[in-house]
Amino acid sequence: MRTRDWDEQDDDAPAGGTRERERALKEVRAVYRQADAAYAPFSCPASGECCQLARTGRQPWLWQPEWELLSRGRPLPPPREDGGCPYLDATGKRCSVYADRPFGCRTFFCERIRGPARQPAETVGALLERLERISQRVAPALKSPRPLLEWHAETRVKEGHDDPPPEASTQ
Ligand code: SF4
Repeated sequence: MRTRDWDEQDDDAPAGGTRERERALKEVRAVYRQADAAYAPFSCPASGECCQLARTGRQPWLWQPEWELLSRGRPLPPPREDGGCPYLDATGKRCSVYADRPFGCRTFFCERIRGPARQPAETVGALLERLERISQRVAPALKSPRPLLEWHAETRVKEGHDDPPPEASTQ
């Protein structure tokens, strides 16, 4: 007998509303648990170097419910002077939001990854599609994920912590 997937009935839920948003966050957490399970056989030195976003030139890209999960109910940290992720702790080596860190942080490993020869690319792809569908339900206007620093800067301005960036030149 086929068993029901952990979230399949939610595809038909109506968009918007607090209840629907809470359901979306619950589903995102379930996606994260599946990603963690897929990467359970892997490890890395946990140096925190991949969180030095300016230095690496890479950053996690988040769908709207991922950003909501990350930012809701906790203070919005200021940008770091070293260009690292604002969610690094004071030492600059540890994630301060580990339980709610985005999908990209859970599934990105540098060349120092240890574990099986092959990473679970198919599972990651399927979970990414699932995240997209969850986001489309609650934030249909957002057609693609956005970089963490973009979400962060925009929310800092919205909450009045920072001034808006100067208008881009039209020349
Ligand atoms: S959210 Fe955490 S794991 Fe992800 S880049 Fe920031 S500090 Fe690193």
